[in-house]
Amino acid sequence: MLHDVMEVVQPGEGNGNHMIVRLRLPSGLEILGLPTENFYGGDWDLGPTWNYLVLADRPFLVDTGRTGQGNTLLEKLKMAGVSGKDLAFVLLTHGHEDHDGGLSEIVQATRASVKAHKLYDRLIRLYPNDAPPGVDKDFPASCWRCLMPASFSNKQCRAYHRERSRLEIETIGDGETSIMNAVTSYHLPGHSPDALVFLLGEEVLLVGDTLLPDISPHPTRQSDFGQVAHVFGPAYPCGDSIYGLRAYLRSLKKLERIGTRMDHLIVLPGHRLFYNHRWNEMAVNERVRELLTHHVERCGSILESLKRGPKTARELAVAYFEPSLLKGAGIIMAENEILSHFELLQACGDVIPSDDGRFEATGTSTVESAIDALEPDHR
Ligand SMILES: [Zn+2]
Ligand SMILES: [Zn+2]
Repeated sequence: MLHDVMEVVQPGEGNGNHMIVRLRLPSGLEILGLPTENFYGGDWDLGPTWNYLVLADRPFLVDTGRTGQGNTLLEKLKMAGVSGKDLAFVLLTHGHEDHDGGLSEIVQATRASVKAHKLYDRLIRLYPNDAPPGVDKDFPASCWRCLMPASFSNKQCRAYHRERSRLEIETIGDGETSIMNAVTSYHLPGHSPDALVFLLGEEVLLVGDTLLPDISPHPTRQSDFGQVAHVFGPAYPCGDSIYGLRAYLRSLKKLERIGTRMDHLIVLPGHRLFYNHRWNEMAVNERVRELLTHHVERCGSILESLKRGPKTARELAVAYFEPSLLKGAGIIMAENEILSHFELLQACGDVIPSDDGRFEATGTSTVESAIDALEPDHR
């Protein structure tokens, strides 16, 4: 149990901002939870990004907070008695800005090496001669299909992209990989194509955004693959193994396999470990089942709704998401999530797109059995 091993070193705000927590595990391993603030505007609060300092023989940091938070994080390390220079390496759960935004600052200050999935190493680069037509050539491959309006990305992202594109990455492969003694990584794509989770001994699972309490992780779209396939190369011939809802659901099933093997894991997520003034403890398999059920039900409900007539993703997004989640860029995220369900439903033959951007039910309802049949090891 989280509470048996955890001590609040520094209390913070109700959403977790400014907290520091220390975990002392039965093996003797210690981990510090070091949340860093996120501020993207709008009415919806994601809460901070939870980064973790693992005090192994040589300490290492998992994730680095968003842009501008790298030095804040180094200050917190110092308070814990760890100099940035002591870091063996920085490990990334995935290449979203709220997790790797602070990375360049930390690397500049400490010269620490960076370990991330091998697709991260492809996605952060700029390909000025190889970018698809119509995309901004200053954008890395990760952002060729940017969901945010230019007013946002011009202000928030350009410097981050440029700095990040110059980083040297020690790459981690697919499947199950040993990072160091008692630290194993698993490639679990879906929320992002480069998503990793890390198992420490048989005690702790650092899950990034692949498994979150409170909220359902945002899936990518299978169609995102087309633009980047040529920078990934022949090792990834099939987009649905690393992008989209099917990839994500398979990754949940992989997590379930880990959770079945080790049913007392302490799960440390990238967000909402503490939120609304309370701790969110997760049991791996229980949370996996909740999320699988959520997606089965969402697909079933979309099908029901389409039986009453064809609809666009936007119409369904407005029906399913609370108004506060639809403000600003929220509507784009919500629409994107519905489109990821449409992709799965279309692959099952339960819906077809029509010429006017709507989706139509075909009359079949095979999605639930298709989700049941998804194999975790598909490539
Ligand atoms: Zn993320
Ligand atoms: Zn995140």
